[in-house]
Amino acid sequence: MNEIKKGNISVEAANIMPVIKKWLYSDKDIFIREMVSNAADAITKYKLVKSSDGEEFKIQVTVDKENGNLVFSDNGIGMTAEELDKYINQVAFSGAQEFVSSYAGGEEAGIIGHFGLGFYSAFMAADKVTIDTLSYKEGAEPVLWTSEDGMAYQMEKGSRTEHGTTITLHIMEEENEFLEGYRVEETLDKYCAFMPVPIYFKDLEAEKQEKEAQIKRKEEHDKKVEEAVQKGETPPVWEEKEAEEIKPINEVRPLWFKNPKDASDEEYIETYQKLFKTFEKPLFWIHLNVDYPFNLKGILYFPHIKRDFAGQEGEIKLYNRQVFVADNIKEIVPEFLMVLKGVIDCPDLPLNVSRSFLQNDRQVRQISKHIAKKTADKLNGLFNTDRPSYEKYWDDINPFLKYGCIRDKDFFEAVKNSLLLKTTKGEYFTFEEYQSRNEGKAGDKIYYTVDPSRQAASVAQYTDKNIDVVHMDSLIDNNFMSFMEYSDTQGPKFLRVDADIEGIKHEGEDDSKLSQEDMQKLVRDALNKQDLEIKLTALEDKNLSAFITEDEHMRRFKELSALYGQQAMMPDKHILVLNSRSQVIRAIADMQDKQKQNLLINHVYDLARLSSNPLESEDLQHFLSRSQELLASVAGVTLEKTEPQENAEKQDEQKTEE
Ligand code: ADP
Repeated sequence: MNEIKKGNISVEAANIMPVIKKWLYSDKDIFIREMVSNAADAITKYKLVKSSDGEEFKIQVTVDKENGNLVFSDNGIGMTAEELDKYINQVAFSGAQEFVSSYAGGEEAGIIGHFGLGFYSAFMAADKVTIDTLSYKEGAEPVLWTSEDGMAYQMEKGSRTEHGTTITLHIMEEENEFLEGYRVEETLDKYCAFMPVPIYFKDLEAEKQEKEAQIKRKEEHDKKVEEAVQKGETPPVWEEKEAEEIKPINEVRPLWFKNPKDASDEEYIETYQKLFKTFEKPLFWIHLNVDYPFNLKGILYFPHIKRDFAGQEGEIKLYNRQVFVADNIKEIVPEFLMVLKGVIDCPDLPLNVSRSFLQNDRQVRQISKHIAKKTADKLNGLFNTDRPSYEKYWDDINPFLKYGCIRDKDFFEAVKNSLLLKTTKGEYFTFEEYQSRNEGKAGDKIYYTVDPSRQAASVAQYTDKNIDVVHMDSLIDNNFMSFMEYSDTQGPKFLRVDADIEGIKHEGEDDSKLSQEDMQKLVRDALNKQDLEIKLTALEDKNLSAFITEDEHMRRFKELSALYGQQAMMPDKHILVLNSRSQVIRAIADMQDKQKQNLLINHVYDLARLSSNPLESEDLQHFLSRSQELLASVAGVTLEKTEPQENAEKQDEQKTEE
């Protein structure tokens, strides 16, 4: 090409540029991905058409701040003048029409690469773009294409001597962040870290500074040598700085393309750490490898999940043939798996995916289902073959697993036999195991506690009878228990240790002469709580005077409401259970000294409350002062009356006396 050819790309292009600009506004740096992946494609194509033994292929990305350029160079297939015309000038034309009509049709623009417009994204950041290219074909001539706005172009003779393409972006003033080495390197790392062709990065500004520093060092050295010679000392020896080894910024054969059989644990961990820039190790992982009915490779990692995983977000990176596309694509990864981390590489999806495309794609739903199934398989496999490890992971993975069960019926069906209950003794049982261990003792119930140390007294009531108490402490447990109860008619019944007295009731005869009616009146009067529900029952533990129970469902409902920031309009449904076998209760019932009786009833009530909940403010004060009185009474001394009294009336009396 000796003459200069000028032209206009297309009328429609004038319409696309604003659209591309708008689209790229959120992901401005994407043009770098487009340039590099075109270069990688060009090299892949070259390898296909030409046997290339011994040739070293590479993509060179260079930031030249001084001249305001960002340069992408490859030794791929290159383009002839005709091809340039066809692929750059004209493809844009048809792609533009398609793009514009689809955009006008209400589809939120999202598919640049899809319409063959990837190259034009260069104009998002550049006020001038040149393509200097030489086709690999025999006798081909280099061509230089120049355009300042992506609409009018000029073609003339180029300067390349080796097959391939050099694309130079003269970065516009407003986008000069892309002339900073770290910014470009960070973007390359984000999109190109696993591309199939080695990518080298060079920052000319940094190189220049390095050189200047080197010269300065040499000058200083020479000065010292001169000084030493003058003083007749031995001059210092010049130490050549070792040149840093130039390495590609990417990994050309990522682990997910390997056969899982050939990949070592170390490699999985290394890839995890590289992908997520962390020193943490994952718990375990699943290698996805599907050829049919769709193509998918990937690795899903189970990270250490924090206890309240609600705030924790996983990260699943979507790749298309080793090119990073997006993070956390909700449509592809089942929502409940979003706490996982990993990569999915799926060449069947377009490089630039639009949300609405994904939502309506049947294949995407299949992929999502497949991922859920594989995850279930992995968990079951681990449970069946390596239960100790599975139990070790349980504390980490249980919230997410439970959430998955609630969200996805198929997933629940798949993993239900691998769900564990952790007891207060640190043992792990399946639902079936729990039931058979506690057969005849717990009925169809599963006793649990949310806080084994605070509820230690109540827990002991059960464990003393060899009933297992399980620990339900994650945020999801409340929902999960209800889910399990309703999952089928045979579902278990969860009861908190303070919800019921079935498990701690005395089975045999009860020789008590107390009556429910008398006790109720006595206690209600003493506590001045006429609405309090009171139940006289024989409990197994004779030393336990009383116990508070709170209706399981009412309590759970209230907790759930609180979790969602609402206050449930529901009465407290506490029952004070008095143990008819307790000698203390019997003695209190028979007591003649009414004041003492009153004091003891209040104390019994507080103790019962204390075993499941801490007492607060006034209640606590009363409890403490009463305890002092009791201490004094046992010690046989009298306290000076300065503490507040049991009820308001008495306090008032005292005040008037003073
Ligand atoms: P797409 O890559 O989706 O086809 P682009 O707008 O990114 O759309 O590129 C248009 C065409 O230009 C490519 O298909 C390719 O034929 C050609 N092309 C772009 N960059 C290069 C390059 N570095 N080397 C060779 N050909 C290229």
